[in-house]
Parts: sequence; C-alpha cells; structure tokens
Amino acid sequence: MKLSNANLHNKRIIIRVDFNVPIKNNIIQSTKRIDASLFTLSHILLQNPKQLIIISHLGRPKTSNDCSLEPIRLYLEKILKKPIALIKNLDINPNIPIILLENIRHHKEETKDIPSTPLFRQKLTNLCDIYINDAFGCSHRPHSSIIGINPPEKYLGFLVEKEVQYLSSIFNNPGIKTLILGGSKVSDKIQLIENLIPKFNNILIGGGMAFTFLRYFGYEIGSSLFDEEGFKSIPQLLEKANFHKTQFYFPDDVECASHFANNAQKKYIKIEDGIPERLIGLDIGEKTIEKFSKILDKSEIIVWNGPMGVFELSNFENGSKKITDYLASQKNNKITIIGGGDTASCCEKFGRENDMTHVSTGGGASLELLEGKQLPGLEI
Ligand code: AMP
Repeated sequence: MKLSNANLHNKRIIIRVDFNVPIKNNIIQSTKRIDASLFTLSHILLQNPKQLIIISHLGRPKTSNDCSLEPIRLYLEKILKKPIALIKNLDINPNIPIILLENIRHHKEETKDIPSTPLFRQKLTNLCDIYINDAFGCSHRPHSSIIGINPPEKYLGFLVEKEVQYLSSIFNNPGIKTLILGGSKVSDKIQLIENLIPKFNNILIGGGMAFTFLRYFGYEIGSSLFDEEGFKSIPQLLEKANFHKTQFYFPDDVECASHFANNAQKKYIKIEDGIPERLIGLDIGEKTIEKFSKILDKSEIIVWNGPMGVFELSNFENGSKKITDYLASQKNNKITIIGGGDTASCCEKFGRENDMTHVSTGGGASLELLEGKQLPGLEI
C-alpha cells in the first residue's frame, strides 16, 4: 500500500527525513533537502496524527553538542506554522504533537552495530505505529533509523516514491538513451557503467575520469587525473560495450592549466596532440561540447552523473555549464535525469535545476540504484 492511501489519523508516526543541510553560523545555507520533504510532512499533518516524530542526521557530530538540528527546527516551525519541540533523548512525552528528534547521529547505535543497537532500534520502534522513510539520500545506508524501525505499518514517503519512479523510468521507457559521465574517479563508477552498458545506446565520458580512458588509448595526458584501479577495468568495459553495441565517446579537446587553481593560465589542447607533462586537463573543450551535443540531439532519455570539468572554478566551468544549459533547453523534448551530489550542485550553480525532468536528492543512493543494487532502506 502507498502512503497516499494510508490512514494516519490519531496514529503515532515516525518519519525519517534527510535534513543534512549545509549550516554556517546557525544559518541554513540551502533549504533544498528540507523543502523536498515538505509535501510528505504536510500530507501527514493534514490527517491529524496523534504524534509526529521527525528524525534526521546532520553532519558527523563528534560530541552530543555538535551539529544540532535547532536551526532546522526554527525553519520548520516557520514553514509548517506549528510549534515543534526539539527533543534530545528517547523518553518522549506522548502528548507533544510534533517533535524533531535531535541529531540521530548523537546516538552511536545509529551507525554502529554494537551490543546496544537492537535495544536502540526497539526503543524507536516502540515510539510509533507507523514508520515512513522519506530520506532517499540515506536509503543506501543500513543505519538504525533507516532499517531498524519496524512497526507493523511502513511506507515510503512521497519524495522517495518520486525518486524511485523517475530513476526506474530510465529503464522502463523506450527510446534512445545516453549516459553522460564525468567527475573524478573511474573506479567509483565502474559498476554503474557495467550495469548501464546493456541499457544505453551511448555513453559520453568527460570530466577527470576521461583521462584514464584517453591514456588507455595511448594519448599523453600530462599531469591530469589518472585512476590506476579504474584503468585495469577498461578492457572489460570496452568488450561489454562492443557486445551490446553501446557507443562510447571521449573528449577531442580540453582546457588545461599548469596547476589546480582558478587563476592558473589556461591552455587549449587537442587530445591528438597530447597534453604536455606539466599541464592538467580541467575542462572539456568546445569541439567536445559540440560532439557531445550532436549525440544528445539524437537522444530521448539522458542521464547525467558527474561534472564535465572542475565546475567549482569559474575558468573551468564552461563544459559543465554548456551541458547543463543544453539539457535545460530540452525540458519539453527529452527526459533528463540528473544524479545527485556534484551534478545536482552543478545544475543549482547555473540556476537550471527546475528545468530538468528530475534532479535526484541523493548522490550515493541514486548511483547505487542505477548500479542495479537493492537499497536497504527501500527493501525494508
Ligand atoms: P565525482 O565525485 O567522482 O563525481 O567527482 C566530482 C568532482 O570531480 C567535482 O568536484 C569536480 O571538480 C571534479 N572534476 C571534474 N573534472 C575534473 C578534472 N578534469 N580534473 C579534476 N577534477 C575534476
């Protein structure tokens, strides 16, 4: 059964959300992750539950005073227009209508399997009649508040439902499919590439990970990123792609710099000429952007994971920005799915996240789902 059909009236409900937002000097820098769960929270509150307990982690606290959820409580109170109590321990007064439990990672049993973990999980279970998981970004982690709260009724929240629906639409919809991959390491994405080769027509490789492939093909890559582990897997990836008739595309030109800094002098290099020893490739060049755009023109479903260059530095953001702009311009023509993490930050930086079909809220979780893994938080 789905959450939309569940009767939540007069029930004690625990919702696990991912409110792991950036906070500086007690000010939330981006409320995106909180806002993504507001739909589920409002749906629950509209049904007048007996009690709603909201659980999240925040950062990696070293002591029980670190990383407090108080700024989040204040924001939630303002948005939901209801009083919310921040409670530290698990001895909870059943008469408080809405509770934000203080950072769940203050309890070591959240992330660690220690002798007291089963008791901790049972205590949380005893606090509710219904458990709802709306923390997509944490659903790949077998943590206590993700897999250990087990009342008779459990649901996926609307945010998680939406993520799963969009990410599985990649596999269920027919059409020409192109995967754009970038970022820094090949080895991190081997399993993703392996799983997606049979399902995609084209794979465009940019970003730092392209250089490991380019070196495999015999090009000089200078001081650009090289991933020894990933290098070893290239023959098997190419063989699998050949078998499934999946076409790989790599950069023909790059923007280089003498060192990893925005003010470093830029140098345009054609890959066929080789990158000199002292230079680092930090962005894809115009010819590559043009080549990639032609493939994207012929594609109907596009999945993007990993920036095309060091988009955090304005002098090396061009490739990522142009690909972002291209995908945003196709809003009404193509399905465009953005993996979370850095690729989502990239769309946010260029103000185009609302122009994509779907921008995932979970980097690691969306990657694991696309790799074909079962996510513990969804399974349970
Ligand atoms: P990943 O976590 O593997 O997706 O990597 C994301 C990071 O890759 C971003 O922080 C980018 O700055 C970085 N990146 C992209 N292209 C390059 C490049 N050519 N050299 C070094 N780092 C890069």
